[in-house]
Amino acid sequence: MNAAKVVEDLQRRFPNEPEYIQAVSQVLGTIEEEYNKHPEFEKTNLVERLCIPDRVISFRVTWVNDKGEVKTNFGYRIQHNNVIGPYKGGIRFHSSVNLGILKFLAFEQTFKNSLTTLPMGGAKGGSDFSPRGKSDGEVMRFCQAFMNELYRHIGPDVDVPAGDIGVGGREVAYMFGQYKKLTHEWSGVFTGKGREFGGSLIRPEATGYGDVYFLQEMLKTKNDTVAGKTVLISGAGNVAQYACEKCIQLGAKVLTMSDSDGYIYDPDGIDRAKLDYIMELKNVERGRIKEYVEEYPTAVYHAGEKPWNEKADIALPCATQNEINGDAAKALVANGVIAVAEGANMPSTPEAVKTFQDAKILYSPGKASNAGGVAVSGLEMSQNSERLSWTAEEVDKKLHDIMVNIHENCVKYGTEADGYVNYVKGANVAGFMKVAKAMMAQGIY
Ligand code: NDP
Repeated sequence: MNAAKVVEDLQRRFPNEPEYIQAVSQVLGTIEEEYNKHPEFEKTNLVERLCIPDRVISFRVTWVNDKGEVKTNFGYRIQHNNVIGPYKGGIRFHSSVNLGILKFLAFEQTFKNSLTTLPMGGAKGGSDFSPRGKSDGEVMRFCQAFMNELYRHIGPDVDVPAGDIGVGGREVAYMFGQYKKLTHEWSGVFTGKGREFGGSLIRPEATGYGDVYFLQEMLKTKNDTVAGKTVLISGAGNVAQYACEKCIQLGAKVLTMSDSDGYIYDPDGIDRAKLDYIMELKNVERGRIKEYVEEYPTAVYHAGEKPWNEKADIALPCATQNEINGDAAKALVANGVIAVAEGANMPSTPEAVKTFQDAKILYSPGKASNAGGVAVSGLEMSQNSERLSWTAEEVDKKLHDIMVNIHENCVKYGTEADGYVNYVKGANVAGFMKVAKAMMAQGIY
């Protein structure tokens, strides 16, 4: 395989999907050497079969808003690869959603799910509908309309969606309810469900906690810990909130959180009480992060900016893709950051990744450090199949063990000659080899 040539060919075929090309390019660049050790892969054109999704489903979603106006959005489900288990991946509702973004997320998900060691294939779905500013009734009607089409393509052994940006417990519950209504069956077709109807304990916490567990493992390689460190977090949603919670529990000082309009900087640190306020503000009142400074006037709000120019030991990007560009990465390094553990998917641009790696700081890609979310989704699927629910301690321990295991795999496949751990390479090679072997075994179809 010549990675550059494959990427060039995909770019020609999919010219309007830059995020997809970015994700493919990063993965192929790091697995090329390993791939070329296996001539049998090339003989079956495995690389092309791996990059192009099994299936792309797109559909119209029509719903009625509170004013009685008829609205139409796009709906998508990308079923990328199911060689190691049913398709699995979140659903994103955000105005920025397009085919290329969902294709990048589904591609990444395939490697991430493989890394968890649980039997899950890769998928992603979503819509350009944004729940922001919509009433509860509008969100419910949209979710139902979305499911009226999607239900025929998913199932507990076929494709199991979950949440992502703009899709939390409320949206999952509405979609699950409609699926049940349409199919006349109760099954574990969604993860991230409410506790009362099959959801797993620790699933809401899993991505953020897992990110910090991974960070702990990275710091351990330098005989260091999270305690006493200053931390920049972006986002104020599900992943950001629980990354913040775990940092507080471990004795770190979280200085920032953000949303798409700006960020807050709290020089005294976001403590438990302040995080409770943020959780209420974002999850119940559905407010904006700038309201934080009205409640805590010693904090400062920076409109239209990202937190990466602030000085801190650790950065946890937990908002969205490409939120750290080359300049932001340079600012972080210049300010002495020692570790960046991605909670979001592909939040660092290729220039940013290069900056972190050239500076030899600890840097983990989302597919490794945010895999805790889908890992606990996998555990939710197991509990639904068994008709049992495990305790929070049991699930948290399994989550922790999975993150430790992913870290070990990254070190195994990503340690370079000078001892520096290239977590991007480690995660990509480890995730790829399992999928590749399963594809080879299952033949060409
Ligand atoms: P939420 O919708 O709960 O929160 C997203 C947060 O990021 C919000 O604060 C949002 O602000 C902000 N944000 C969204 N888009 C942008 C943007 N374009 N620019 C700046 N800020 C933005 O989503 P999650 O916390 O679930 O997801 C966050 C990231 O983590 C995503 O990359 C997702 O793919 C990834 N992830 C999530 C998992 C999960 O279990 N939930 C699992 C693995 C990865 P605003 O309110 O203004 O939109």
